[in-house]
Amino acid sequence: MTDLIDQAQHFEAINLAQSLQAQLRRAETQARPAARGHCLNRECLEPFAEAEPARLYCGPACAEAHHRQMALAKYRSVR
Ligand SMILES: [Zn+2]
Repeated sequence: MTDLIDQAQHFEAINLAQSLQAQLRRAETQARPAARGHCLNRECLEPFAEAEPARLYCGPACAEAHHRQMALAKYRSVR
Protein backbone atom coordinates (compact mmCIF):
# COMPACT_ATOMS: atom_id res chain seq x y z
CA MET A 1 0.00 0.00 0.00
CA THR A 2 2.71 2.41 1.02
CA ASP A 3 4.61 1.52 -2.14
CA LEU A 4 1.65 2.54 -4.28
CA ILE A 5 1.36 5.90 -2.56
CA ASP A 6 5.09 6.43 -2.80
CA GLN A 7 4.95 5.66 -6.50
CA ALA A 8 2.02 7.99 -7.07
CA GLN A 9 3.84 10.80 -5.29
CA HIS A 10 6.96 10.04 -7.28
CA PHE A 11 5.09 10.33 -10.58
CA GLU A 12 3.38 13.48 -9.38
CA ALA A 13 6.80 14.98 -8.65
CA ILE A 14 8.09 13.99 -12.09
CA ASN A 15 5.04 15.54 -13.73
CA LEU A 16 5.50 18.78 -11.85
CA ALA A 17 9.21 18.89 -12.60
CA GLN A 18 8.58 18.28 -16.28
CA SER A 19 5.96 20.98 -16.64
CA LEU A 20 8.17 23.41 -14.73
CA GLN A 21 11.03 22.59 -17.04
CA ALA A 22 8.83 23.10 -20.08
CA GLN A 23 7.75 26.47 -18.68
CA LEU A 24 11.36 27.43 -18.03
CA ARG A 25 12.34 26.50 -21.56
CA ARG A 26 9.44 28.55 -22.94
CA ALA A 27 10.38 31.51 -20.74
CA GLU A 28 13.95 31.37 -22.02
CA THR A 29 12.87 31.56 -25.64
CA GLN A 30 10.61 34.53 -24.98
CA ALA A 31 11.73 38.10 -25.44
CA ARG A 32 13.95 39.67 -22.84
CA PRO A 33 11.92 41.24 -20.04
CA ALA A 34 11.96 45.03 -19.87
CA ALA A 35 14.61 46.61 -17.67
CA ARG A 36 13.15 48.48 -14.71
CA GLY A 37 16.21 50.05 -13.15
CA HIS A 38 16.40 47.36 -10.51
CA CYS A 39 17.08 43.65 -10.33
CA LEU A 40 14.03 41.77 -11.64
CA ASN A 41 14.46 38.98 -9.10
CA ARG A 42 11.51 39.67 -6.79
CA GLU A 43 13.47 38.48 -3.79
CA CYS A 44 16.32 40.88 -4.54
CA LEU A 45 15.11 44.12 -6.25
CA GLU A 46 18.58 45.62 -5.93
CA PRO A 47 18.53 49.11 -7.53
CA PHE A 48 20.99 49.70 -10.37
CA ALA A 49 22.90 52.83 -11.25
CA GLU A 50 21.35 55.13 -13.85
CA ALA A 51 24.37 54.41 -16.02
CA GLU A 52 23.03 50.87 -16.49
CA PRO A 53 19.49 51.42 -17.81
CA ALA A 54 19.41 48.10 -19.67
CA ARG A 55 20.61 45.97 -16.79
CA LEU A 56 18.16 43.27 -15.69
CA TYR A 57 19.88 41.29 -12.93
CA CYS A 58 22.75 41.43 -10.45
CA GLY A 59 24.08 38.19 -11.87
CA PRO A 60 23.24 34.72 -13.17
CA ALA A 61 21.77 33.60 -9.83
CA CYS A 62 19.21 36.44 -9.88
CA ALA A 63 18.45 35.82 -13.55
CA GLU A 64 17.79 32.17 -12.82
CA ALA A 65 15.65 33.01 -9.79
CA HIS A 66 13.58 35.44 -11.85
CA HIS A 67 13.09 32.88 -14.64
CA ARG A 68 11.84 30.46 -12.02
CA GLN A 69 9.49 33.09 -10.58
CA MET A 70 8.05 33.85 -14.02
CA ALA A 71 7.63 30.18 -14.84
CA LEU A 72 5.95 29.52 -11.49
CA ALA A 73 3.60 32.49 -11.88
CA LYS A 74 2.58 31.22 -15.30
CA TYR A 75 2.24 27.65 -14.05
CA ARG A 76 -0.07 28.83 -11.23
CA SER A 77 -2.18 31.00 -13.53
CA VAL A 78 -2.67 28.09 -15.96
CA ARG A 79 -3.88 25.85 -13.16
ZN1 LIG B 1 19.53 40.62 -7.82
